[in-house]
Amino acid sequence: MTNLFDVPHFIEDAPTFAAEHGATKAGHAAVVFDRVGKVFAGAKGAPTAALANVALEVARGEVFGIIGRSGAGKSTLLRLVNGLEKPSTGAVRVNGVNVGELDERGLVSLRRRIGMVFQHFNLLSAKTVRENIALPLKIAGVPKAAIERKVAELLELVGLTAKGDAYPASLSGGQKQRVGIARALVTDPDILLCDEATSALDPETTQAILALLRDINRRLGLTIVLITHEMEVIREVCDTVAVIERGAVVETGPVWRVFGDPRHDATRALLRTLVHDLPADLAARVRTSPDVAQHGGTRVLLDVRFTGADAGEPDLGALTHALSVDGGRVNFVHGGIDRIQSHSQGRLVVSSQLSANTEGALQTQIAALLERARRYANHVEVLGYV
Ligand code: ADP
Ligand code: MG
Repeated sequence: MTNLFDVPHFIEDAPTFAAEHGATKAGHAAVVFDRVGKVFAGAKGAPTAALANVALEVARGEVFGIIGRSGAGKSTLLRLVNGLEKPSTGAVRVNGVNVGELDERGLVSLRRRIGMVFQHFNLLSAKTVRENIALPLKIAGVPKAAIERKVAELLELVGLTAKGDAYPASLSGGQKQRVGIARALVTDPDILLCDEATSALDPETTQAILALLRDINRRLGLTIVLITHEMEVIREVCDTVAVIERGAVVETGPVWRVFGDPRHDATRALLRTLVHDLPADLAARVRTSPDVAQHGGTRVLLDVRFTGADAGEPDLGALTHALSVDGGRVNFVHGGIDRIQSHSQGRLVVSSQLSANTEGALQTQIAALLERARRYANHVEVLGYV
């Protein structure tokens, strides 16, 4: 994670803003959701409870991802941060300031410290790229020369120096989002909010935009809160993730932990798009009980998982040795290891040849094998027999 105290504008500006608005302490977190609830009055009929008892802390300088299905409450959560919505219960604090207590002037000042990027870019089609980026500064009454300097700097940061005089209609989706990001950063915010910023982009462009966000996070020490329904986005760019389901946070933690060891069904369901279950041909061959009379011995199929909880990388030599029974063969069948935030994690499906020829002796062999193997992997389970 970025060391915030290396970032000068945090030290200079954030406490000033906090002091101006009566914060009692600067606070370590950039954003705190303190048991936040939000109920929308229904236009006709029953009110909608969009959020219930949400408690989260976004640390300064981190990339914090909020993931959930459509309608889970993600956009509402984000809009509470810059005061576009007010909580029905609880409080949202930004740099120690209670957003719900700000007056109009306070909100204007807050929104200058918070940039926002949207799924559909929200650019003005009648204005050039340069004019779009300049808009927040123009509204704030910044002198023309200072605006020009700042816009040139941002065009370079997002890699669009050659496109300053172009109109949005002539740009690709990825270029439009670069303009959206530049505009969001033009007031030197401490916090960037991204609402499905890559959801309208193809996978390759998504990767490029995520790399840009990561670069901005590192270079400027900016705190980023992004919401998405795509697990790939969380994996690529976030430090911490919160999973939201029907308005409630059901799981939160470092990305490597949540990916390596998801604890809630909603998280597992979202991860299913990434974690492959057994390939169909293999699944068709797996039996739930061993056939001890099988010619050439029974092979047990094992699910070996590395959650990234240990610092090291999988020791395949030791693992293979632990999985082998009486010198029997160990085959690597399926799976692989990824690196997420420097943690090795993933899943290997392996088969191990057993030598016992009674059901009881087989189970004893398997129990001993599992005990040995668990020293070299975080989870080892029997998937079945082949
Ligand atoms: P997400 O961004 O996760 O798709 P939203 O935060 O947009 O979810 O919406 C959460 C719930 O709140 C939904 O049921 C939605 O219909 C409702 N909702 C959001 N905004 C409003 C609003 N302004 N008025 C009434 N209901 C709303
Ligand atoms: Mg939304």
